[in-house]
Amino acid sequence: MEKSSTEKLAKRITLVVTHQCNFDCRYCLQKHEDVSMTKETAIKSIDAFASGIVEGDKAQISFYGGEPLLQKELIKELVNYSCEKILSIPDTRLTFEITTNGLLLDEDFIAFAKRNKILLALSHDGLAQDEVRTDRGGNKTKDRIDEKLQMLLKTFPETIVMMTVHPDYVDRIVDSLKFFRSKGVKSVSMVLAHGERVSWDDETFEKLTREMNKVEALYEQWNAGNDVFRFIPFDNKIKNYIRQRDADSVTCHFGCHKFMVDADGKYYPCSHFIGRDGFGIGSLEEGISEEKLKDLESKRVEPEDCKGCALRFRCRHTCACSNHGHTGSMSEVSALQCEYEKLTIQLADRAAALLLNESNPGFVSRMYPI
Ligand code: SF4
Ligand code: SF4
Repeated sequence: MEKSSTEKLAKRITLVVTHQCNFDCRYCLQKHEDVSMTKETAIKSIDAFASGIVEGDKAQISFYGGEPLLQKELIKELVNYSCEKILSIPDTRLTFEITTNGLLLDEDFIAFAKRNKILLALSHDGLAQDEVRTDRGGNKTKDRIDEKLQMLLKTFPETIVMMTVHPDYVDRIVDSLKFFRSKGVKSVSMVLAHGERVSWDDETFEKLTREMNKVEALYEQWNAGNDVFRFIPFDNKIKNYIRQRDADSVTCHFGCHKFMVDADGKYYPCSHFIGRDGFGIGSLEEGISEEKLKDLESKRVEPEDCKGCALRFRCRHTCACSNHGHTGSMSEVSALQCEYEKLTIQLADRAAALLLNESNPGFVSRMYPI
């Protein structure tokens, strides 16, 4: 196997610290085997990553699961070890990222996150949480996670909430956003649940369209004057347009600048492909296989139907994991995803046309940072 150069590992890496989870979400596609990363594998992963960091770099390490906070003590050790190792290189900056379901968050870990520049994002499905995201015992979780959200917001007022929309609860999107805003949340990311455990049809998409139109009205209202409410799907589409960057360069890191190390030390190009046959791109022992990476990249081609589409630079139609999740192919966009992309771009543009004027300084400065 051809070994990669160390810079292939820089500058962002994700460690899958466990496959286990204390939740049992209705759309989850993971198997939750009793597998966790050993300290030895974790340290080797950090060492391999650190070997590609040079003076002046900005490095980022993410911890992923299952539920990563089941490995809280290991994460603390790794954060301390990474800081010692990487911050000794002159002028480097190091940040960490964890998305958690929140159940194991406590004041102590939040204070640790604050001290060590760990960005904590919280998965929360709003008013569908109790129906969709139960714990392993089948118990509702909303009240418990709401408390954790309040705890997080006290220390991190900019906490991002990650909401997944299950087709059975599409009509709760607007009320969920209102709920988050009433709690003080300023940033909500949203994705549509996909995979074999959910099914979307014309009727649910019509409901989604109605909800998204209402979201647009709220977005305009909540970003008026100096107010700030980041609905990430709209924010991203507007920024893509303003900065003239294609959507995937912002959202899809498939095999470039970011790799996943699974609990057993194998490398994958993106979280969606962890443990899937044919998607491994190497291991800690062997390094990244350029050959396998190139082979995977060659299978990720732009769909014919998209080549003439006016929206192609703002659409995530080449995002390998999104396509694979919806259609089973890295290069085939589902009808749902295509319609959702069109809808999101149209609504984001309408909102931007209204908000990009001087009477909304919060929105203008967010879109045009100095
Ligand atoms: S919290 Fe995440 S990993 Fe756990 S069951 Fe839910 S979706 Fe799956
Ligand atoms: S909007 Fe649809 S047709 Fe256009 S690029 Fe996206 S997926 Fe392809």
